[in-house]
Amino acid sequence: MISNPDEKVLITVLGCAGSSYDRTLRQPCSSYLIETESAAVLLDCGHGSFASFNELAPETRLDAIFISHAHADHAADLEAFMNSKGIWRDRPRLLASEETMAAIVRAPFELVDDILVVVSNGSRMNVANFAMEFSQTTHQMPCLATCVSLGGRRVVYSADTGPSWDVAANFVGADLALVECTLEIRSGDDSAFHLDAAEAAAVARELSPRTTVITHVPPGASTEARLEIARRAAPHLEFIGARTGLQLTLE
Ligand SMILES: [Zn+2]
Ligand SMILES: [Zn+2]
Repeated sequence: MISNPDEKVLITVLGCAGSSYDRTLRQPCSSYLIETESAAVLLDCGHGSFASFNELAPETRLDAIFISHAHADHAADLEAFMNSKGIWRDRPRLLASEETMAAIVRAPFELVDDILVVVSNGSRMNVANFAMEFSQTTHQMPCLATCVSLGGRRVVYSADTGPSWDVAANFVGADLALVECTLEIRSGDDSAFHLDAAEAAAVARELSPRTTVITHVPPGASTEARLEIARRAAPHLEFIGARTGLQLTLE
């Protein structure tokens, strides 16, 4: 397919709660839809994202789902998506690393060629008219960040990462970066495999996108407090907070 660089790119946050699904608050976990009129790829599909997709993007037909890693807050709704016939443009397609694939594909989906596509650190592939590139982050288990581009427009998704993620060169200078910010201020016993707000700002400085979306905030924790810290740490960058239903358009 020939890409039309004038096509608008629409990003919809289907879910952005980090780390765990709170059964009382019922906030959907990590899931970001990136689409144009002719292509759509879903980045992760944590708890609650399938219901969110049906509510927020009922007309969308997917070309692929990318799963960054096997934690449930990123992959819990995968079977619902893969087994749902009406939501695919052509046929189901799952992109993930070999390790992630091994962990999340329990029952074999209706196996037809090209449904399970293994991607890896540094690899590139085309999904409809999007180009995708992958970069290994630092997390408890193998985890890939991705950069999705169409024409000159680029969206970077950090997935889950610690501060020592070695940002890929092609990820720098994107229009939009979705950056995890699980912690507000790191304390001694916090996980080295997530970012606090100052570290998220440091990652944003490295990525230098036009806009950074702070995301993966645990249920009940404050996105505003994280934004304040990030803005102080990188005042020249634009930060906004993720919330379910947030839509952004790249012209
Ligand atoms: Zn997570
Ligand atoms: Zn994780």
